[in-house]
Amino acid sequence: MIVLVVNCGSSSLKYELIETDAEQSLASGVADRVGVNGGTDAVLKHKRPGCPDIEKSKPMPDHEVALDFVLETLTAADCGAIKDLSEIHAVGHRVVHGGENFSESVIIDGDVIAAVEEVSKLAPLHNPANLMGIHACTKRLPDVPQVAVFDTAFHQTMQPKAYLYGLPYELYLEHGIRRYGFHGTSHRYVTLVAARRLEEAGIPAEDQKIVTCHLGNGCSMAAVLGGVSIDTTMGLTPLEGLMMGTRCGDLDPAIVTYLHDKLSLNSPEVDALLNKKCGLLGVSGVSSDMRDVKKAASEGNMRAQAAIEIFAYRVKKYVAAYSAALHGLDAIVFTAGIGENEPMVRRLVCENLAYLGVLLDRERNENCAKERDGFDIARPNSQVRVYVIPTNEELMIARDTAELVASI
Ligand code: ADP
Repeated sequence: MIVLVVNCGSSSLKYELIETDAEQSLASGVADRVGVNGGTDAVLKHKRPGCPDIEKSKPMPDHEVALDFVLETLTAADCGAIKDLSEIHAVGHRVVHGGENFSESVIIDGDVIAAVEEVSKLAPLHNPANLMGIHACTKRLPDVPQVAVFDTAFHQTMQPKAYLYGLPYELYLEHGIRRYGFHGTSHRYVTLVAARRLEEAGIPAEDQKIVTCHLGNGCSMAAVLGGVSIDTTMGLTPLEGLMMGTRCGDLDPAIVTYLHDKLSLNSPEVDALLNKKCGLLGVSGVSSDMRDVKKAASEGNMRAQAAIEIFAYRVKKYVAAYSAALHGLDAIVFTAGIGENEPMVRRLVCENLAYLGVLLDRERNENCAKERDGFDIARPNSQVRVYVIPTNEELMIARDTAELVASI
């Protein structure tokens, strides 16, 4: 089945066309700066395996025009991957927030759209953009079934002790204030890959205790017991937990009122500070990109060194916290931009964890290969496996979409 995977941000439309039987990517790309300055400087970057990458400009005032341009590109004689749009069997959408309504992926209908709109208050930057993508596809591909795959769904298995905050219970009941967690599609994907490896190593699926670390621009971890998420670091919003590229992660909530009272920052200013000016960028003063921060640190920049130390220290603390939550540990999984590419961070996280049974193989860590089935960077005698697994959220979305559509 050919599935078009769509991931709409407020000013972008990412896409990948996937043939799900062979799990093969036919084409992928991103339309950027959609609707910014009326979309006048929007650009489409398109990749097709075996062909040179393409960059095309065209005004894209909204997501509908962007989708049109994507569909045109996918069917173009030179760089296209299909001859006709009728070859697209289904569309799978990444939807950031499903609230408590969705614990798995669903076929999109009017009720689903209404429910996604309803939880937009919890994800005002993301859900409306996801909905724009859904509406654009409904218009342009009216006969093609669509599926919503939620970032929050995988974590809906958490128990109240993990998802409730120490706040008045009414805030949960009346306003839905609780931990939801995000990056669920990525945590689920790498869990499946790691679970296969652990089963081969003789650990039954239902007993597996895995800590997954999605370390990209946004960062989160999950504690996964028998394939089920029992805890995760992100909360009501993606701001909680690990320190990230530009987000602060965990902090004393009184800092928010302090910023307001003492620095006279209003709510949007505090929000922008915590989401966009903190993390690797805020601490280092150099960049939100680990590559730049690492370079500055190696040149003696103390703030950059501190940023890396804080980053890795937080991951390490959660590894131990989640081993406690899981009553043990069979595997740590590293994924996403930093997790897949930065041996120094993996080393800082894993060193001195021998008491948990983690013994890193330094050489395998340094020379880690990109393998779809994961690359084990633990020593043979380590009780805990340490896998580096390239995430593939698009493939997970395509799999769910194909499965649901096949069952219609
Ligand atoms: P997103 O979270 O936006 O999906 P990614 O998972 O691609 O992003 O992660 C992007 C981040 O990963 C970059 O900001 C950078 O910090 C880090 N990164 C990407 N490539 C490398 C690399 N080769 N070495 C170290 N860090 C990298």
